[in-house]
Amino acid sequence: MLEQAGVVIPHHGMRGVTRYEPAEWLSGHHHHFRCTECGRVEDVAVTPAEERRMAQLVGGMAGRAGFHVTGHTLEIEGRCERCM
Ligand SMILES: [Zn+2]
Ligand SMILES: [Zn+2]
Repeated sequence: MLEQAGVVIPHHGMRGVTRYEPAEWLSGHHHHFRCTECGRVEDVAVTPAEERRMAQLVGGMAGRAGFHVTGHTLEIEGRCERCM
């Protein structure tokens, strides 16, 4: 499933071991939850479909402003489960 979506690229190593690593366009790209109570920051799990939608939204907003998009960051503020 993940392989089909292009999220991970299989690395066929020795002894028939297949490792999976994030595809380059996803590696190093994170969205974050930030807890405004304790300051904890966590990575947000985003599906490729969601990421594409996000990129589309960002591209649309930037396009209107004549801004050329090379990336985006998203930080979601709130309270983590410990601070609920
Ligand atoms: Zn917290
Ligand atoms: Zn993103």
